[in-house]
Amino acid sequence: MNIKDNLKKVKENIDRACRSCGRENSEVKLIAVSKTKPIEAVMEAAECGILDFGENYVQEIVEKYDHMPEGCRIHMIGHLQTNKVKKLIGKVSMIHSVDSLHLAEVISRECQKADTSMDILLEVNIAEETSKFGFSPECGELLSAARDILKLPGIHIRGLMASAPITEDGEQNRIYFRRLRELLCELRELMTNEGISDEELPQELSMGMTGDYIAAIEEGATMVRIGTAIFGARNYG
Ligand SMILES: *Cc1c(COP(=O)(O)O)cnc(C)c1O
Repeated sequence: MNIKDNLKKVKENIDRACRSCGRENSEVKLIAVSKTKPIEAVMEAAECGILDFGENYVQEIVEKYDHMPEGCRIHMIGHLQTNKVKKLIGKVSMIHSVDSLHLAEVISRECQKADTSMDILLEVNIAEETSKFGFSPECGELLSAARDILKLPGIHIRGLMASAPITEDGEQNRIYFRRLRELLCELRELMTNEGISDEELPQELSMGMTGDYIAAIEEGATMVRIGTAIFGARNYG
């Protein structure tokens, strides 16, 4: 199987999922997760029309950045240590994995120093797995952090991100995707109350991976992050 054929199949699945729930496929952005894969794989996907790439590791982003095909964007989707934030400024179009107030503060500070701004998503540990990062969906932890983060200069909260548990059956994760969508509604309500205008309200739901993107789209995903189904299994060597 090659990347082109894989992409064709993934796009067909996305189109079918959209049709089944009355959404336009333009509402769902496909992010090809190229972590651990060589730049040649990125180029092949770009030749098939992919513009958005997901990466997890700062060092890998720094190495790939100069070789990215024209017009392509990098999305940081992996856990980010505060001491590495600076290296990402100007290189990534969005940070999906903001999982603490402290990290948001550092991003804000580095953006101000560089006289720029950053679009971010707040990561939610949607199934409350001990192995995962993210704000807890319970007890208002997410919302209370959001209230502080939205006041920080230089960063824009565009939505929420989550990785559901690994499963063979994507249907099992539907409840988590639904929960994330509800949390986005709560976040929008909070931000409205804080005086944020309608156009500036967050609307992105970054959810759905190789095993569960169909269910995620049916529950409202606006960005799906797909690696294995496009580039094949990863070898972490
Ligand atoms: C690796 C990764 C993906 C892609 O996972 P696949 O199962 O290979 O599609 C998506 N999101 C995050 C946060 C990841 O780390």
